[in-house]
Formats: sequence, C-alpha cells, structure tokens
Amino acid sequence: MFIDPFGRTIDYLRISLTDRCNLRCVYCMPQEGLRRQPRSEQLTVNEIVRVVETAAQGGVKRVRLTGGEPLVHPHIVEIVQRISSIQNIEEVSLTTNAMLLERFAQPLADAGLTRINISLDTLDVDKFKRITRGGEIDRVWQGISAAEHAHLSPLKLNTVIVRGLNTDELPALARLTMEHAWHIRFLEIMPIGNSGDWGNGFPAPQNRYVSVQEMRDQLSRFDLQPESTPIGNGPARTFRIPNALGTVGFISPLGEHFCQNCNRLRLTADGRLRSCLVIANEISLRDAVRNGKPLEEYFTQAIAQKPKQHDMMAAIPADPQRGMSQIGG
Ligand code: SAM
Ligand code: SF4
Repeated sequence: MFIDPFGRTIDYLRISLTDRCNLRCVYCMPQEGLRRQPRSEQLTVNEIVRVVETAAQGGVKRVRLTGGEPLVHPHIVEIVQRISSIQNIEEVSLTTNAMLLERFAQPLADAGLTRINISLDTLDVDKFKRITRGGEIDRVWQGISAAEHAHLSPLKLNTVIVRGLNTDELPALARLTMEHAWHIRFLEIMPIGNSGDWGNGFPAPQNRYVSVQEMRDQLSRFDLQPESTPIGNGPARTFRIPNALGTVGFISPLGEHFCQNCNRLRLTADGRLRSCLVIANEISLRDAVRNGKPLEEYFTQAIAQKPKQHDMMAAIPADPQRGMSQIGG
C-alpha cells in the first residue's frame, strides 16, 4: 500500500497521455500552442501499461487519463482496454474536451472506461469558440449524448470560472443539473498554464480569479443543499439544488486547501512521476521502464516527496516550463 509521509493513502493515478491537444483554451495554452515533446520522449502504450501495473501492485485502484487531449492519442482505446484489465484497477476514467467524444464514447465504454469528465466553460456558441480558440460547442453536446448512450456515468462537467468571461453564466450552468443527472463542478482558475495576456476582449490576468465563496454567493437563490454522499471522492464540495437530478460542486485549489485529503500521484506523458500538481519535483522513470528495471523504488521516492500542502502562488515561478496540458490538469 502506498502511504505518504503524512499518512495519506495514495490510490489514484492521473496520467497525462499526451501533451497534444486539438484546442487551445485561453487559460491553458498560448495561441501558438506549446513546444511539442518529440514522440520518442513520450511513453509508449506498453510502457504506460507497465507503469500502471507497478502502481496497481502498490495499491492504486483508480486511474484517470488526461492530457493534453487524451482522445487525440492514436491508441486511446487500446490504452483503456489494457489498463482496465490490470488486476486491482477498479476504475478507469477520462477528462476530455469532448471534440472527439461522439466517435469514441461507445468504443471506450466497451474497452472498460467507467466514467468521463467533460470540460465546458460556457453555454454560448461564440464564447465557446473564443475560449477554446476554435472549438465547436455542438460537438460537446453530441459527445455528452454519446457518453450517456454508452452509460458512461456519472457524467461530470468541469467549468473554470473567470471573472468577466463566464461568471454571468453560473446560474444557467447550475440549472443544467435540474434536468440532467450531470455533476457540474466549478473550478477556480489556477495561475498555471497560460496566465499571461489572452488578447482582445479577455480580462487582464489580475482580474480573472473568482473564489468558490463568491461563486456560491452568486448561486444563493438556488438554496444549495450539501450532499451527504458526494459523487466520487474528488476534491469538490458538493451540493444539490432541491429536487435536482444532478449536483453542483466547487473546487478550490487556491482559496480552500484540499491537500489534506490528496490521494493522487501524476504521471506525465514523458514518464515522470509528479507528487503534486503545483510542486515541480518530478521523478523520471522513463529510462528505467525502457531498460526493463523494477519501478517500485521510483514510486517510493515520488511518494516520499509528496508535500503536506502546496502554496499555489509561491510555487509558480519554480515551474515555468510545464503547462497544464503537459502535467495533466
Ligand atoms: N483536454 C482535456 C480537457 O480539457 O478536459 C484534459 C486536459 S485539461 C488540462 C484538464 C482540465 O484542466 C480541464 O478541465 C481544464 O479546464 C483545466 N484547466 C486547464 N488550465 C487551467 C487553469 N489555468 N486553471 C484551472 N483549470 C485549468
Ligand atoms: Fe486542450 Fe484541455 Fe488545455 Fe483546453 S484545457 S487547451 S482542451 S488540454
């Protein structure tokens, strides 16, 4: 069993399968994208599977595939199928922008995917195109419908709230849960990724942040009731509008620390174990996996480095090279 120095059990692995993405969300990447890692630097399918096998032997039960955009990985279905067949892995989920989900939902479900999180920051067609720099919101709706059809549930929506961009949509987004069994989670924007200028018509960096407390205040008319059994065991504080089918959650990486319950480890596309989204320490196991060496000690080292908590603001300058798409947000 993986236990970190602060007694937390580590049973959840987030894997950034690729640094590639078919969108360029303003808060995540610059318009021109980030320097792409050569494919030779990224783990192959066999290598990823070997890393997850070691993780599973150490007690990891749940795996989330992210990126970049995991659905642009050329072997995504095979990866899901092989990871979900590993002994002790109870759940394989995926976070996606849904541009390719209509095509992949059923094959992924057939391969063993259990759940899906979809990123959706607005209900407005044009705003969606502007935020994602070219994405089509219709494809998200088609992807959601395909995911429901394939019984990929519970379906979660991730919404990054940015002042002056989508704060006015909080009520309409929350209202989605009244008619759909969807679990929407509002996230505070993090100063990771593209925290510079986003161009004309977007708020300046210092004006973007909205705390979860302020989000909750904006939703006070809904009489949100705390959920006694949150969906999944992620970092969201979860509520329900009375009689709604779905729930409304709030994730606060900056304002309210969720570190005390952190059960996760991350694996980057280029084979580094990272014990915290924010703290830059990484342990590379790529050479070891390529040379057929045992991998347990790399996990032991990474877990030993897991910080008690992060200081998001202080940590940023320490890690200017890696964007969210490379770490796996
Ligand atoms: N491409 C997939 C997607 O967008 O769902 C998976 C990778 S993306 C990096 C994972 C999540 O990170 C998305 O929900 C995205 O909204 C979130 N994210 C990216 N940059 C962020 C930032 N600066 N602050 C908060 N969330 C961010
Ligand atoms: Fe791509 Fe996801 Fe980043 Fe948007 S948030 S640019 S979809 S990796």
